[in-house]
Amino acid sequence: MKPNVLVVEDEDALATLLGYNLEKEGFAPTLVSDGEEALIAVEERMPDVVVLDWMLPKVSGVEVCRRLRSKRETRNVPIIMLTARGEETDRVRGLETGADDYIVKPFSMTELMARIRAVLRRIRPGLAADKLKHGDIILDRVAHRVQRAGREIHLGPTEYRLLEHLMQYPGRVFSREQLLDAVWGSDVYVEMRTVDVHVGRLRKSLIAEGEVDPIRTVRSAGYSLQG
Ligand code: CA
Repeated sequence: MKPNVLVVEDEDALATLLGYNLEKEGFAPTLVSDGEEALIAVEERMPDVVVLDWMLPKVSGVEVCRRLRSKRETRNVPIIMLTARGEETDRVRGLETGADDYIVKPFSMTELMARIRAVLRRIRPGLAADKLKHGDIILDRVAHRVQRAGREIHLGPTEYRLLEHLMQYPGRVFSREQLLDAVWGSDVYVEMRTVDVHVGRLRKSLIAEGEVDPIRTVRSAGYSLQG
């Protein structure tokens, strides 16, 4: 899956250039031009990284940042702030806004791509790790084994991929549609309730007598691994 980058930039020329370069570098960019649209876009599809301009019409970049940080679902999404030289850089520099990084305009595309890769590596090491750990659950990607509290868990291939996906993004809520795309692939036709069936099987395999359910069902939204 290509990392989804949400670009929030009101300068059309720069937004187009960013979109072009992100695609070329293997990212899936979504472009929006103001803060209000940014908040809607995040609700529709959770980005892997947000590239956020500081000065934006309607809702400012700082406000977008603050709102993303205050919600459980978006609290950990990496944010790179774009600022013009002299635009309150001291506050941005201190990253008081809650951004993970910032870059001053004009910047080179190479530099921005490097920053995006750096935040992805730092914030989602799970994408590259051999072993994923969540509470007492360990998923070993090399040996293709899952253990909970020291006991071996036997999972079918779909339940394994489902668990692996959820463990890469603990706390993040996925809709059934997003899980279908990530686990089954977007070109396969599967009914939405198939997801529920497999989540049910995964739970059954994972939970022994007296253990807590690690998977949270979010009413009308989907599923997430308890953060
Ligand atoms: Ca701007």
